[in-house]
Formats: sequence, structure tokens, C-alpha cells
Amino acid sequence: MSDEVITIYSLTTKVLSYDSSADVDLLKKAYIFSREAHCSQTRSEGTPYIGHPLSVAHILADMKTDVATIAAGLLHDTIEDTGTTVKDMKEMFGDEIAFLVSALTKLSKIEFKTREEAQAENFRKMLLAMSEDIRVIFIKFADRLHNMRTLQFLPENKRQRIATETLEIYAPLANRLGIGWLRIEFEDLSFKILMPELYEELAQKVAKRKEEQEGYLKEVARTIEESLREEGLYGRVSGRVKHYYGIYQKMQNQRISFDQVHDVLGLRIITDTKANCYTIMGLIHSFWTPIPGRFKDYIAMPKSNMYQSLHTTVIGPKGERVEFQIRTEEMNKIAEEGIASHWRYKEKDTMKTRDSKYISWLRELIRSQKELHDAREFMEAVKGEVIPEVVYVFTPTGEIKELPFDSTPVDFAYSIHTEVGHKCVGAKVNGRIVPLRYQMKNGDTVEIITSPTHGPSRDWLKFVVTQRAKNRIKQWIKAEERKQSIELGAKLLEVELKKHHLKPSSLKSEEAQTVAKAFGLQTYDDLLVSIGYGKVSPHQVVNRLLAERSPEAHLRKPQDFQGASGEELQKTVRPQKEHKGISIKGIDHILYHTAKCCLPVPGDILVGFVTRGRGVTIHRKDCPNLERLTIDDARLIDVDWKPGDEMTTTARLLIETVDRPGLIADLSVLISSVNVNISHINATTTQDKKAHITFNLDVRDKPQLNTLIQKISQTEGVLRVKR
Ligand code: MN
Repeated sequence: MSDEVITIYSLTTKVLSYDSSADVDLLKKAYIFSREAHCSQTRSEGTPYIGHPLSVAHILADMKTDVATIAAGLLHDTIEDTGTTVKDMKEMFGDEIAFLVSALTKLSKIEFKTREEAQAENFRKMLLAMSEDIRVIFIKFADRLHNMRTLQFLPENKRQRIATETLEIYAPLANRLGIGWLRIEFEDLSFKILMPELYEELAQKVAKRKEEQEGYLKEVARTIEESLREEGLYGRVSGRVKHYYGIYQKMQNQRISFDQVHDVLGLRIITDTKANCYTIMGLIHSFWTPIPGRFKDYIAMPKSNMYQSLHTTVIGPKGERVEFQIRTEEMNKIAEEGIASHWRYKEKDTMKTRDSKYISWLRELIRSQKELHDAREFMEAVKGEVIPEVVYVFTPTGEIKELPFDSTPVDFAYSIHTEVGHKCVGAKVNGRIVPLRYQMKNGDTVEIITSPTHGPSRDWLKFVVTQRAKNRIKQWIKAEERKQSIELGAKLLEVELKKHHLKPSSLKSEEAQTVAKAFGLQTYDDLLVSIGYGKVSPHQVVNRLLAERSPEAHLRKPQDFQGASGEELQKTVRPQKEHKGISIKGIDHILYHTAKCCLPVPGDILVGFVTRGRGVTIHRKDCPNLERLTIDDARLIDVDWKPGDEMTTTARLLIETVDRPGLIADLSVLISSVNVNISHINATTTQDKKAHITFNLDVRDKPQLNTLIQKISQTEGVLRVKR
């Protein structure tokens, strides 16, 4: 492209080649205006400034954009650099061109304090500009591309800054918009500036490989061309080279060397129909063995930027891998030009495609760029289309983060650091507190609030999106459950030991180890976990322990066992949190929750059921569900209410009554009169004129509840009361 003649005449010729009705006079007028406006300026390389806008216009013509866009490209620096005003521009060139030029001017006017700030702000502005008119982005892209191509004339620090920004903002945006060639050129130009030695090294290696494999690939291509002819199929076979930055990224991401990158060179086959893509792939697979896991069907499942193609890698005739990309002409155009190819057809609507999805995508985009003025709204509108898989959000310091769509502040927190995730208790988005399950939007600035004593919740798994967050939360829960099981196991064992007048501290560590081994477990902690999970009963463990001990030891008095050797057991019991209400016989503070099925209240006889990893569930002894649970006696434990606790517990009463008006009111008054709070009422009537009323009540204990049951039973119209 560098030996192309860049003049206004070659520009108008180029435009006429794809749009014979183009208003070339307008382009000439814009050129003359721009040349006059910039007449006193030169570029860094010492040439007249007009060369830059003219080159930008040429790039826009290469993209086959419309005349207004190209004219705006010629004029894009006039307002910023010269005395021209928007008003002048409107009078000379009309509203459309004036709008494009002033939008571009706004885009480049902001001054930034830090690079991060610039990055964030630039991205915001670009989304905003894109939301107003996608052509603003085309011009901005062309402007940046020409600046990148001529970067060698700038001082080193400026060069680095511009290349970094191109790599971090422009290249991803070009990729999201599906403009493949532009992304590649942005990436390789930046790569060359930022890592010149690596770039050179890769360039040489690629050239060497090309030399080595060229003949081989030609042979493969010939085989395919011949068989296409035999089958009467249309297809163009061409070689392709992966771009340098793409190779570099692959080496980085997969931690592999250049020699291990197999798709540096490949073949591309372009055919006429979608069906033929699959036919040709079948043909290739019949010649050479495909490598499992390397076949990708982007035709059935297009990439978010509309890219479609079949990819497959086979073991070629000399045992070398060859990667193929198979696609139609139209798919190829979309892979190269992306949104630009759609946009071009916006008025002519000549794209008579089999797949109306492209058209509706295009229409939606055109419509939204007219109606929406807010970048976020625009992004929302094209969600799942242009930028479906990611949201860009910012840290409070302006650093940009890319996360999958629907990511929450919890995902964000884990993306910063595991500890930030674990300790996350809340989040502020754009300065306002949001729930942790909030789904982040493009451009949000997210601040995570942490608390050092906090840990993740199992509920987070229901809304986090990133694999990283999921894994970290699961790991934490697993570790936490183990800790709690150790704690519970230690307590259950302590109760059992007490029955034999033994203290946990009497257990020597070697002894504990032996017993653990006897149950097929590695460590004493594993044994406690098994007890805590209800896999091993404490009774079995104590029996085993007694059997291990000599008969003499067995006969000794309990206090003889108190010694200094029990540290191991002691340290596994964590400092206790204050639990109210219920204790295992003989021990306070256990991890428990009351069973929803029978809602026990103080005074009820209780049974504890050791769950797997979630502590003890407390049931009433007469709970019908217990029968099902008692198959596994080892997991039932005696529990009791701890006396002296001032608190209320939820109880449930089921009341069967005749269907009489005002009865619920009467019962409510009655219940309130004995100072019991009603937390929930549910009533249904039956066909035989009866009513079933359910009250959830906060009661102190069983006597209070019994008194209440008696009073309710005596109320007129009440047939039956039960819990
Ligand atoms: Mn410029």
C-alpha cells in the first residue's frame, strides 16, 4: 500500500470504481478546503500536512465508505488545527459532513492526566461516537491507521503511547466490529513498535517456515483443487499466514514455543455455498486424518462479530499438520470487513442473503445509531450482536477490565484478586451501592467494598459468571465445610469419650493417627471430618480406641489420661461463636439449624441429624420425617435445649375450622392477646365449607404454645388444632 500514489485524482478514481454515481466534486471541494486550511502546517516528517487527511480519505475509500465519510476524512483535522468553525463547515458542506467532523473533533479534544484515565475516557467517547454514527468510528480508525503507519517519525515516548493505545483500544474494537484486516494491521504495527526484537525474531521464523513448507502446502493445495474439479465444486484455494501478533498471543496464552504453533501457515478455501463448505470439509477429511478437537464450526455457531467459517486441522501427506479454513465468499467478506461490509449496503439493501440474521443485525444497528444518544443504551441495544460476550468496566483508578456479559461485582472482585473476592461484602457502581448480583453494564465504574472478616457465600454461585469466581468460591466453601466438619466431629467424639470418662486431651497424637488409619483415613483431621459428615460414628471410633489401648490402660482412672499430649485435638477446635438455644448433650455451641418440616420450639424433645458437611439439623422427636432418616442411626445424636435463653422460635399451627366470617380476625386477636407475634397467615377454604388456616408464630417455648393451642381449640368454630 505504501507505493500507492496518494493524490486527489487517484482518490476520486478509486471512489468511482465502487460507486459510479459518487459526487466527486464534493470530494474535490473538501480537498481544496482542507489543503488551504492546513497550508501553514507540516507533518513530523517534514511533508505538507494535507498528505495526512488525503491518506485517511484513501483508507476510507479502500473501505468503500460513502462520499460524506470520505469528505469528512479529508476535513477531519480542520476544526481542531485551524481557524475553521462548525458553522463554516455547515455552510460549506452541509449538516451531515459538519456533524461527522465535529464528532471527530470532540473525540480528540480531551486532555488526560494518566494513561489509564485516557484509556477509559477514550473508550467511553468512542462508544458514544459510535452510538451517534458508526461512520465516526470508521474515520477515527482510518486516522489512527495512517498515524500508525507513519509512527516512525515521532519521538520514542509518543510512539510507545500511541502504539499501546492502539493495541489496547483500537485493535479490540476493530475486532468486535468484525473488521479483521484492520485489527491485524493495528496489532502488528503496535507489536512492531512495542516489542521490536520479538517482532523481528518472529518475522524471520515465519519467513523460514514459509520457505520450508511452501512446496508441501502447494502439493496439498493441488490435491484439493484437482478433486474439487473432479467433483464439479467451485473453490479457490489460497495460502494464509497467521499475523505476527496472533502468533505471539498464542505462544503467550498457551505457553508454547514458536515450533509448537502449528497454524502459522494454513490454507483457505473459498467456495460458493454453505452446503459446499461442509462437502469440501468432508473431502479433506477423506484424504487426510483430522486431528480430534481441532474442528470448529463457526458456520453453525458464528462468532459474536459475525465471523463464519469452518476450521479443521489434518495430518497432511508428510505427517505435518495443515490447518484449513473453509468459507463462502460472503463469509470471507464479513471476516475481512465486518460491520463495514454491512454498513455499505444500508441504502441499497442488495444483500439478498440466505441468512436474514445479517440484515436484521444491520437494521438494528442503523436504527439504534439514529435513536440512541447514550453509549450505554446503544451497547444495550446491540448486546448479543456487536459486542455480546463482554462488558468493559473500570476500576476506580480508571483501569479497564474486560469481563463476560452478565458479570457481577463478585466476578469483578475475583478478577482483581482472590482475596478481594473472598472479602467482598458490597459494591458501588458509579458511586451508588448495588446488590452483589447486579449485572455490570459497559462503562460502569466499579468499586468493591471488602471486610476482613467476611467470606464468600454459597448463594454467589447462583449468579457469578466467570469460571475464576466459580472455582475460587467452591474451593473456599469446600475448605470451610471441612473446617466445620472437623469442629463438629471433634465435638461428637468428645461426647462419646465422656461416656467412657475420657477427655479429648487424653488422646495421644500417635494413638489418634493409628485409629484414623484403622478407618482407612490418612490423618486424625480426616477422621474428625468423617465423624462430622456422619460417615463414621463416634461410638465406633471410641471402641476402636479402647481396643488399641492395653488392658492396663483401660483400667486406669480417667484423670490419669489428662496430659500434655492432646494438642493436636485441641487445635482443631476453633474458637467458638456464640450459638443460642440448642446444644448437643454436654456441649454448647454447635453448628445447627432447625428443621423446616417440624419447627421445634423450646420444650420439645429433640433429635439431631448429622448432615453431610452442613452441621446438625434439629428435628422434633415426633417428626414424621425422622423415621426416614433413622435408617442411619450413626448420624442421629441427642440434643437438648440450653436453658435460660431469652428468645423466640418459629412454630407453625394448622387449624381446621368451619368457614365462618371473622374467624381469622378472632384468632388473630386471641393470639396477639397472649403476646405472641404472628409472622405469617395462610388460609384456604374447602368445598365442604371448612377452612384450613396456617399460622406461623414466634413463641417462647412449648408451654406457651400448648396454652395457646388450648385457647384456640376452645374458640367457637374451631374443629382441630395441630402443629
Ligand atoms: Mn488526523
